[in-house]
Amino acid sequence: MTGPESRTCPTLLPLPDCREREWARQAIALLEGDGRRSADTHLLKPLFPGLKGVSIYLKDESTHPTGSLKHRLARSLFLYGICNGRIGRDTTLVEASSGSTAVSEAYFARLLGLRFIAVMPSSTSRQKIQTIESFGGQCHFVERAGEVYDVAMRVAAETGGHYLDQFTNAERATDWRGNNNIAESIFRQLDSEEFPVPEWLVMSAGTGGTSATLGRYIRYRNLDTRLCVVDVENSAFYDAWRTGDALITAAGSRIEGIGRPRVEPSFMPGVIDHMIRVPDAASIAAAHVLSERLFRQIGGSTGTNFFGLCWVAANMMASGKEGSVVTLICDSGQRYADTYFNPAWLKAQGIDISPYRQMLDRFLDTGQFVPPG
Ligand SMILES: *Cc1c(COP(=O)(O)O)cnc(C)c1O
Repeated sequence: MTGPESRTCPTLLPLPDCREREWARQAIALLEGDGRRSADTHLLKPLFPGLKGVSIYLKDESTHPTGSLKHRLARSLFLYGICNGRIGRDTTLVEASSGSTAVSEAYFARLLGLRFIAVMPSSTSRQKIQTIESFGGQCHFVERAGEVYDVAMRVAAETGGHYLDQFTNAERATDWRGNNNIAESIFRQLDSEEFPVPEWLVMSAGTGGTSATLGRYIRYRNLDTRLCVVDVENSAFYDAWRTGDALITAAGSRIEGIGRPRVEPSFMPGVIDHMIRVPDAASIAAAHVLSERLFRQIGGSTGTNFFGLCWVAANMMASGKEGSVVTLICDSGQRYADTYFNPAWLKAQGIDISPYRQMLDRFLDTGQFVPPG
């Protein structure tokens, strides 16, 4: 930069009109409108006779316009991409997903008039695939869950598109200090409750983004709340947290939305106070039990969350501790009519949920937590 040209004063030229910025301004206004038209999601407080001294709360993320907690994530990933100048008026969007994220992203892509391609395992539930296609999204299937990342990257390269990459960007696209993120919303809604600062938050991990937001927020706000992350079978998160080993599992998780074959970049082990691993039969039994007690179906990962919440509550009761515990309803069970709520599917998977059902019913009615077998 020492040539003669770098020393000459810039001549007056018409400034560029930056029309691309106009598209981005309109896109952000559309995304803000979607948020403004939505009320906050409910914080439910179901009452169970066996739970003495422990208040439990369920943050119901199934009521977002696209039916899951991924509505928040998709909105954040779109804002992140637009504000970073990666998404413009002609950008094809590509994502690797087990389904829920792609549903929400397809919705926002249609809102902004952008092409959207989801790369998903072929085992993804039929209802999710139909919803993505009804929003105008395209589905690209792979056989093994672990293939989604490379294939999504390749599809993005081939189309000259933008890989939204939820597994990398979930933790950074969400404003963890506040800005009405899920943690801030929960704590605001608990504000006038008997135990406004929960003993524990319980959350499963898919990208790990939600647990990262919850864990960072409770530290940032200097709260006494602790975070328990519940993992599932065939997932790499639990061992990574316990031993620091980043093993890769061969099989995919049977609980859609959570449990990953690799440790995702958005998973932040340092903000997690405790982790447990829940058998799939227990997750699905918990989904059935909670569905019956709420009079509506909730999804498999919510079953995992609810089992973890019961386990934490049982531990508190065993040590005579009072307080509140919070977890999330991640999505509705209507998406899983063919799987978790289908006896033939359960049989084919070799899953018997009845011992865990009995155990959970007994716990919720009497407070006695007696694992089966
Ligand atoms: C993504 C997802 C989760 C986990 O949330 P993360 O923030 O990605 O860890 C749980 N349940 C369902 C249904 C999901 O789609």
